[in-house]
Amino acid sequence: MSTEDSHTRSLSLTAEPASPPDVAADGTWLACIACGETFAPFETIRYTCDSCDGLLEVRYADLPTFDDFSGRGVWRYAEALPLDVDVTIQEGDTPLYRVPRLEADLGVESLRIKHEGMNPTGSFKDRGMTVGVAVAAELGVDRLACASTGNTSAALAAYGSRGGMETLVLLPAGKVAAGKIAQASLHGARILEVDGNFDHCLDIVQELATRGEAYLLNSLNPFRLEGQKTIGLEILEGFRDDYGAWPDRIVLPVGNAGNTSALYKAFRELVQAGELEPEDVPKLTGVQAEGAAPMVEAIEKGADAVRRWDEVETRATAIRIGNPVNAPKALPGIRETGGTAISVSDEQITAAQRDLAEEGIGVEPASAASVAGLRALRERGVVDDAERVACLTTGHLLKDPDAAAAAGREPEPVPADTEGVLTVLTGDK
Ligand SMILES: *Cc1c(COP(=O)(O)O)cnc(C)c1O
Ligand SMILES: [Zn+2]
Repeated sequence: MSTEDSHTRSLSLTAEPASPPDVAADGTWLACIACGETFAPFETIRYTCDSCDGLLEVRYADLPTFDDFSGRGVWRYAEALPLDVDVTIQEGDTPLYRVPRLEADLGVESLRIKHEGMNPTGSFKDRGMTVGVAVAAELGVDRLACASTGNTSAALAAYGSRGGMETLVLLPAGKVAAGKIAQASLHGARILEVDGNFDHCLDIVQELATRGEAYLLNSLNPFRLEGQKTIGLEILEGFRDDYGAWPDRIVLPVGNAGNTSALYKAFRELVQAGELEPEDVPKLTGVQAEGAAPMVEAIEKGADAVRRWDEVETRATAIRIGNPVNAPKALPGIRETGGTAISVSDEQITAAQRDLAEEGIGVEPASAASVAGLRALRERGVVDDAERVACLTTGHLLKDPDAAAAAGREPEPVPADTEGVLTVLTGDK
C-alpha cells in the first residue's frame, strides 16, 4: 500500500477504530498519520515519526461517549484526553454567544460565536497547553519552548510557570501584538526576538527541540491538539442543549491549522464511538488572510500538500503563517466534512471586528477572520440560509490593543469643565 493510501484511510471520517499496540497506562499510543507506525507515548520524546518524519496523532484504546463527560472546562473531557493529571488554570468552558443582529444581517438560520478569547490567557492556546504541559511534566522535562505569533507564547509562559518549568519563546521581531508580549514577559518566559517571520522561528525551535535543548509545545506537538479538541466538543454540546441539533458548519481562522485538525479529530472520534453520524459532522470551514493563504490555495487547487509561502503579510498577526505545519491533518478534515476554505482582506477582517464589537464581543483581528469569511461565503452563495453556524473567535480584543484602537473611534480632547464638554457634545449635532 502506498503512503498516500494509508494516510487517506487513517484520516477518513469512517475509519475503523485502530487496534491498540503497546498502550500506556492511560490507554493511549502515538500513531504516524503517514506510514501508520506506532509508538509508546511517554517513554521517549518525539514530535514526528521516526521512520518517515510524518505527523503523529494520539490514539485511544477506548473512545468515550457524551455520557462519559462531567464537570467543567477542558478536563470535563478527561476521558477523551491523555493522562489524568493536569496543569490547569481553569481553561475552556468559554461562552457560545448568541448574536441576533449579526445573525439577521448574515441571514443564516442560527449563528453562534464561540469566544475563545475568554480563556485564562485570552486565547484557545490554553486548551492545548493544559494538556501539553501536563505531558511535559509526565516526561520529566524542565524547559519548554515554542515559536509563536504571540498567543502560544503567552499560554506557554503561564502554564509553564504554573507547572514550575522554565519557558523559552521565539517571536518574529516587530510582528507580535503588544498584549501578548506583555503576558509572556510577566509570566517569566525568556523571550528571543528573531529577525525573521514565524516560520523561521518554528524552524529554529524545532532544531533546538531535536537537539534536546527544550520540549517543543507548538501545535506540531500532538498532545496540544488533544486539548484543542475540546473546542469542538463544547460547540457540539452547546448546540445540542440549545437547539436540539448539531451545528451544520464551524467557521474558524487558520494559521498552522491546529484547530482545524483538532476539531476534525474530535468529530472522527465521536463517529468512531457511534455518537455522531458521519453526515452530521459539521463542515469545517477555514479562513485565512489574503496575504497568508497557503491552505486556501491548496483547497482551491485540490492539492495534496500546501506550498510554503515565503512572504506573508496581514494585520491579523496571529495567522501570519506561510507554512501551516498541520496541513496534512487539516486538509482531509476540510474535505471529508464537506467544508471549504476562503481568504479575506485585512479590510474585511477589520469590518468583522467592528461587527462583533457592536454585539459586545471584543476580539483580536485574526479572530474576526471567521466572521469575515462567513460573510464572504454568504455573498458567494456557498453557505445556505438554512444553516446553523458557529464562528470561532480565537483571541481577545486586548491581545492587540493597537489594532483595536485603530479600528475604533478616536478619543476627543475636551476642556476640564462641564460647559466645555457640553459644547463639544452639542457640536456633534
Ligand atoms: C494561534 C491562533 C490562530 C491560529 O490557529 P491554528 O490552530 O494555528 O490554525 C488563530 N487565531 C489566534 C488568535 C491564534 O492565537
Ligand atoms: Zn511515519
